[in-house]
Amino acid sequence: MVTDYGLFIGGKWRKSEGKRFETRNPATGEILASFPAATKEDVSAAVKAARGVFDTWRRTPAPRRGDLLLEAARLFRAKKEELARVVTMEMGKILAEGRGDVQEVIDFYEYAAGEGRRMFGETVPSELPNKMCLTMRLPVGPVGLITPWNFPMAIPAWKSGAALIAGCTFVLKPSSLTPLCAARFVEVLDEAGFPPGVVNMLTGSGSIVGDGLVAHPDVRAISFTGGVDTGRHVYEGAAKKMIKVGLELGGKNPILALDDANLDLLMDGVMFGAFGTAGQRCTATSRLIVHQKIYDQVVDELIERTEKLMIGNPLDEKIDMGPVASPEQEEKVLDYIAIGKKEGDKLLTGGEKRKGGTYDKGFFIEPTVFGLDRKKRLAQEEIFGPVLSVLKAKDYEDAVAIANSVKYGLSSSIYTNDLRWAFRAMHDLEAGITYVNAPTIGAEVQLPFGGTKETGPTDTREAGPTALEEFTYWKTVYVDYSGRLQKAQIDTERLAQG
Ligand code: NDP
Repeated sequence: MVTDYGLFIGGKWRKSEGKRFETRNPATGEILASFPAATKEDVSAAVKAARGVFDTWRRTPAPRRGDLLLEAARLFRAKKEELARVVTMEMGKILAEGRGDVQEVIDFYEYAAGEGRRMFGETVPSELPNKMCLTMRLPVGPVGLITPWNFPMAIPAWKSGAALIAGCTFVLKPSSLTPLCAARFVEVLDEAGFPPGVVNMLTGSGSIVGDGLVAHPDVRAISFTGGVDTGRHVYEGAAKKMIKVGLELGGKNPILALDDANLDLLMDGVMFGAFGTAGQRCTATSRLIVHQKIYDQVVDELIERTEKLMIGNPLDEKIDMGPVASPEQEEKVLDYIAIGKKEGDKLLTGGEKRKGGTYDKGFFIEPTVFGLDRKKRLAQEEIFGPVLSVLKAKDYEDAVAIANSVKYGLSSSIYTNDLRWAFRAMHDLEAGITYVNAPTIGAEVQLPFGGTKETGPTDTREAGPTALEEFTYWKTVYVDYSGRLQKAQIDTERLAQG
C-alpha cells in the first residue's frame, strides 16, 4: 500500500494545499509513496515553527541536546536494515551501500552528540589587569537544509546533526527524488523526542521550497548540497540576504596511477570508486589518469573487470551495480555517452542502456569506459553516472596538470609506492580531499569533508570538528573585574607608569 505523507511542521504531519507527487523505485518503476509539493504558505508555517522554538532549543544545554542525538542514533541502529532497504528501493544503490548510508547517519549523530560536550571556545589573556577574554560559539538561528538524492539519509544527517548540536532548529528540503528517505529519517528524529518545531521537513520543488527557504528573513543560514548551477543560484540568494551558506557541489575526481603502483590494489580501488553507487557520488572516480608505461596493461585489466560487473535489482545481494536514480539521470548519462561517441572518444566498453526483461522497468546503464584526451567534454564535466574516462599521462607532473585542469576540486587520489610522489601529491592536487593508495570515495565522519574551486566556493567543511562552522558564529566576550574603567590600547602607557 502506498503511504500518503504530509509535511512535518511543528512536530506534526500536516496536510498541504499543494499538488501531490509520487516517488518510484528506479529499478522496478513501483510507486513507493506520495508527498505534497509544499506551497509558499507551508514554507512560512515551517519557518515559523522553527523560529518559535529556537530560543528554547538554543538555551537547552548542549550536552542535553547531545542526549537526544544519541537517542536518535540508537533508534537508527535498531532500524538500520529496514531503513537501508528504503534507501535502496528509492534511490537505487545496492543494499550494502544502503546500509552504508544509514551507518553514516548513526556514526555522525554519535559524533555530533559528543560535540555537545566539547564545542570548545578559547580563553585569551587580556592586555589589561583584572580582565579576561573568551570566545564561544553561538547558533545562528533557524536554518534551511537542502539536500540531493544520492545519499538520501546520510546527507540530511550530516547537516541536521551539526545544526542540532549547535543549537539551531531547521527546515529540511530533501530532493524530490528521495522524499521517502527523508520522511523516514524525520520520523526517527520525532521518535527520539526532539521538541516540536526543532525538526521540520518540507517536500516540494526547488523553486518554491528551496528558493522560499533561502529568501525567508527568519532563515539565518543555508546548508546546500547539489549541483554547481543550483549551488550558484543558492549562493546568490544567500548573498542578497547576507547569510551564511555552506555549499557542497559537484566533482570530477581523479585517480592518478603512477608506474610503480600496486596494480591489483589500483584496480580494486578504481572499480569501487568509479562504479560504486553507479558512479552517482560527488566523490566518484570519474577520471583515471595513468602513467604511459602502464596504460595498456591498466586498460586491458579495466575492460575485463568492468565487463564482469553484474547489473540488476539492487535489493539482490549478488548484484554489483543498480540502476541510475531517475529517467532524467538516465537521459543525462546517455547524452554524455553519445557526446563521447560523437567527439571520437574511444569507447573501451559499455556505452548502452540495458534492455530486455526486467531491465525495461528501470534505468540500467552499462558500466562504461572511454579512453580520451584531457580537453574533451567527458574529461571535464561531471557526468554523475557509471562512466569512467581514462587519460594517459607522460609522468607525475603531467598527471597532476591533467588532474587540476577541471573547474571542480572535491576528491582526488594517487596510487604509488613512492613516498616522494605521495607527499608531493598532497600538496599539488587541487582538491579538498586526497587519498593515497585508496579510491576517491570513503569519507569518515570525524574528518572535515568538502572541496575547493567550484565544488566548495564558500570553503565550509561538513563533518568533523569543522561541521559547526556552518551553523554558528563566534562571540568574543571581555570580562573586566577591575572595578574601574580600563581602556585597551590607550591604557598601556599608564600601566607602564604604574
Ligand atoms: P540539484 O542541484 O539538482 O538539487 C539539489 C537540491 O537542490 C534538491 O533538493 C533540489 O530540489 C534543490 N533545488 C533545486 N532547485 C533549487 C532552487 N532554485 N533553490 C534551492 N534549491 C533547489 O542536485 P541533485 O539532487 O541532482 O544532486 C546531484 C548533484 O549533487 C551532483 O552535482 C553532485 O556532485 C552533487 N553532490 C555533491 C556532494 C558534495 O558533498 N560535494 C555530495 C552529493 C552530491 P528538487 O529535487 O526538488 O529539484
